[in-house]
Amino acid sequence: GPAARCEGVVRIYSSPTGEVHALKGVDVTVPVGRTTALTGPSGSGKSSLLRILAAQDRPTAGHAEVAGRSLAGLSARGLRALRRRHIGYVFARPTDNLLRHLTAAEHLATAGRLRRVPRGEAREEADHLLELLHLTARAHHRPGEMSGGEQQRLAFAQAVVGRPALVVADEPTGELDTATTHDLLDAVRALTRTGTSVLMATHDPLAVEAADHALHLRSGTVAHELLDGRRLAVV
Ligand code: ADP
Ligand code: ADP
Repeated sequence: GPAARCEGVVRIYSSPTGEVHALKGVDVTVPVGRTTALTGPSGSGKSSLLRILAAQDRPTAGHAEVAGRSLAGLSARGLRALRRRHIGYVFARPTDNLLRHLTAAEHLATAGRLRRVPRGEAREEADHLLELLHLTARAHHRPGEMSGGEQQRLAFAQAVVGRPALVVADEPTGELDTATTHDLLDAVRALTRTGTSVLMATHDPLAVEAADHALHLRSGTVAHELLDGRRLAVV
């Protein structure tokens, strides 16, 4: 099946001034081994949908699943387990993803332990990821000794250790300059070629262009969708 899927997802928030209908019946499929970009103006529901697909929140109504597991059937503890095993997460700000006192190799080893990857396997995977993302020379450096672009590539490497079903990224290029953004998007492409499924919320046209699949939200619904450059009909 797909990495994640939503069908008729509704998310309503209650606020002192009344209900906010943030998502009004969203159907989305996040394909395996592709990069999906989630776009839309501020207030269109991107964060709400991202939180649901990252198993941080549950829909008010409708069906949402990640790695084949329905979110509706899970307790808070079940959601936490699902996140730990099956979802990697990348924040916009590189330093938010990393710990100051750990080297790159130690970040990856820690992620391996969290996902219960056997130690030898985790080591091999870490070496492979460092090479794939051009970080081998940084293996024994701490974040303070790395550029923002290197930090964000390490954040993706860390998110991918143990092969979670889905990597969710919130504006991953938001803090990067153009040259570094290109390097990061190349790194994301390299990861999707190895079978990783990435969902990123973004305002960055470069990131949308680099994605295989793009979903555009408007007022809590999918306004249009592109898959491999083809426009999909949205009813
Ligand atoms: P962005 O526009 O960068 O996507 P927002 O500013 O809409 O993000 O939201 C940032 C955070 O604030 C979100 O995690 C969201 O849950 C929360 N938030 C947004 N709007 C409200 C609101 N009206 N009441 C309470 N929390 C809100
Ligand atoms: P985006 O990420 O596209 O900016 P959001 O999903 O953050 O959109 O917000 C969609 C709508 O839901 C907005 O009107 C926002 O103010 C509202 N909203 C988001 N989070 C909350 C919340 N926790 N409580 C109340 N309203 C919220």
